[in-house]
Amino acid sequence: MSQLTDRAGQFPWCRAHPTATYLDSAASCQVPESVLVRLNHYYQSQHANVHRSNHRLGRQATSLLECARRRLAQFAGVDAENLSLQVSTTQVLNDLAWSLPIDWQAGDEILLSMAEHHANLLPWQALAQHYQLKLRFIPIVPDTGELGAWEDLLGPRTKVVSVTAASNVSGTIFNLHELLHAAHQQGAVSIIDAAQYAAHKPLAPLCQVADAVVWSAHKMYGVAGAAALAVKPRLWQQLPPWRRGGGIVTRVTCEHADYLETIEKFEAGTPNTAAVVAFAEACDWLSQQPQLESELQQLRHELATALAQCTDIAVLPSGQLHTPTLSFYHRHIHSADLAAWLDQHGFYVRAGHHCAQPLLTSLAVPAVVRVSLGAYNTRAQIEAFIACLDQATQLFA
Ligand code: PMP
Repeated sequence: MSQLTDRAGQFPWCRAHPTATYLDSAASCQVPESVLVRLNHYYQSQHANVHRSNHRLGRQATSLLECARRRLAQFAGVDAENLSLQVSTTQVLNDLAWSLPIDWQAGDEILLSMAEHHANLLPWQALAQHYQLKLRFIPIVPDTGELGAWEDLLGPRTKVVSVTAASNVSGTIFNLHELLHAAHQQGAVSIIDAAQYAAHKPLAPLCQVADAVVWSAHKMYGVAGAAALAVKPRLWQQLPPWRRGGGIVTRVTCEHADYLETIEKFEAGTPNTAAVVAFAEACDWLSQQPQLESELQQLRHELATALAQCTDIAVLPSGQLHTPTLSFYHRHIHSADLAAWLDQHGFYVRAGHHCAQPLLTSLAVPAVVRVSLGAYNTRAQIEAFIACLDQATQLFA
């Protein structure tokens, strides 16, 4: 088995499992040492509740949280007063869907793409059922994996456009700029699910155009339990607090509450300060890896080239630009069986519909195996992975 690279050596999990190959970073990345140290340090010596306890530890925790907010805002190229600290992409999309300041009328439309993760589909489905709205879907072009035509799907009844910036299945990065501009011209609220995108491409251009952009820490070398929502003042100032409780009010009587008029109004209750502080540390770590994305793209290219030579394997098209993720299926071995075989040989991939069932149905492909690369993966691992797939083909196909 290959030696750990310097970068992989920064990941305690990789050091502890030198013969294993983690290929599931699109689900959750492994966490670098610096982030774990930061997390630990917080709980060992800085932990207190924030925005409430006025002793020095409480004040320090508050200042750490606010410092992390500024770091995350800087990472996304937005002002800290427009960045809300949240728990997960899923939670934000649900909360946003039910809180939008829209006077819904039956027949109003929400435009999504066919590539949405269920997190950016099911909340809208539920909302549509509740208000008798219509969901419309931008198709995915089967041959390219790119977004198909949307011009005729966006009209005066479109109240929301909510799309993923990158597919969690094919890895395709969608070109959303014209769509976002057109949505704005129509007066529709635009929301971007950047969960798969944030670790790979600068967020600032998306944040400049979209009303709301959300992404999770655990897919960019942070830990679960923290997410960021960059939202334009024109939207958040009109949104009511979506969860009500401690920390977001100025005055409360038995009958009435006056709420904060800052972005903190979306942050009721005790935040996961440790995860947020670790999230900011993950941004630092990622920013210190300027070559990482091009190295991952090169690895992905080598993987895709090798897979293309396997006649029994079909790779889902992923367009011009993509994250270091791809999915494929074997024509003779079920993806779940193949993933189990790979697991036995130390390759951790994910198989199934990847919470994007409508996408696979629309492309008429069965369950797929997803390989998503992270900072610890190497060429030797990819070569061994391909050899393992060849072996499976020889044995089972
Ligand atoms: N959207 C996309 C595109 C995703 O890949 C995921 C995670 N699989 C989510 C949303 C949900 O993110 P989280 O689990 O952090 O809520």
